[in-house]
Amino acid sequence: MKKDTEVNMMHGAGGEVMGELLQTLTAFKHNNAGGIGLESLDDGSTFEIGGKTVVLTTDSHVVKPIFFPGGDIGRVAVSGTVNDLSVMGARPIALTCAMVIEEGFPIADLEKIVASMDEALGEAGASIITGDTKVVEKGSIDGIAINTAGVGVIDEYIIRDKNLKAGDKIIVSGTLGDHGLSIVAAREGFDLGDQLKSDVAPLYTMINAAMKAAGKDSIHAMKDPTRGGFAACINEMARKAGVKVVVHEDKVPIRESVASAGALLGIDPLQVANEGKCVMGVVPEAAEKVVEALRKQKYGTNAAIIGEVVEGSGVVMLTRIGSERFIEPPLGDPVPRVC
Ligand code: MG
Repeated sequence: MKKDTEVNMMHGAGGEVMGELLQTLTAFKHNNAGGIGLESLDDGSTFEIGGKTVVLTTDSHVVKPIFFPGGDIGRVAVSGTVNDLSVMGARPIALTCAMVIEEGFPIADLEKIVASMDEALGEAGASIITGDTKVVEKGSIDGIAINTAGVGVIDEYIIRDKNLKAGDKIIVSGTLGDHGLSIVAAREGFDLGDQLKSDVAPLYTMINAAMKAAGKDSIHAMKDPTRGGFAACINEMARKAGVKVVVHEDKVPIRESVASAGALLGIDPLQVANEGKCVMGVVPEAAEKVVEALRKQKYGTNAAIIGEVVEGSGVVMLTRIGSERFIEPPLGDPVPRVC
């Protein structure tokens, strides 16, 4: 395949194509501060301070539209960073907030965005303690872009995205595809009923409850299925661990509204972003306990065991009619600018 000479939208879509761009963007020789470094391409990185493991992560947010059913760019900006810390087993402490704002952007909308960020911070028990603001000429950016970086600490144990082991149960914390399909429906002006809304939420409290229920080191791997959806996430986890994952279609929680919107728009709910879900590989003895703990949490009521890890490679779905098909990693999220 011919190598691209210019950046295109697929390069930001969280799939295989983005992986090619990342080879350029992660070509730093100085890429590790003594812990998990950039080369791991995990949800965040780590380093030690005073005997404590600190997790650091950063994310820029350009979701379109800025306000959508179930949330807005502010809630996404805080939740995305909180969740990248949380899926590594960290307790989020402090975030930064850098905004690039287009000339003419309504101040009232900024107030709404800040209030929304503040609400998500409250849920996560974290604070924004420093920030930066730049304003650019009309037309040089589409409204607003928000970057948040976050720092968390490991209280119990660190969880990687690469440590699935044969025998693990695969757990998802709830329904899949809600965010991506809500965004595309809102963007295209489809009215698919008020059931279709984003799942964007900060997950620290829920993940902490799951970790406590599981017991030390019983959650082998965890990741948030954002861009590229569950399909990209589970393929990355399986590839990094050198294992095969078997998923049972009848166990995968997908809302009816999301499934119908997906069918209507020709979009697979497993290939679009979630902003309030996590995927875990858990030792079989602890799996039921973890699901039970998740279901008691506000954002985990539809948690389910949907599959298991076996020897081999790739991700296979056992369908309702008894056949098998591969869940392929998407080339790119079919919905660009989703977070
Ligand atoms: Mg992540």
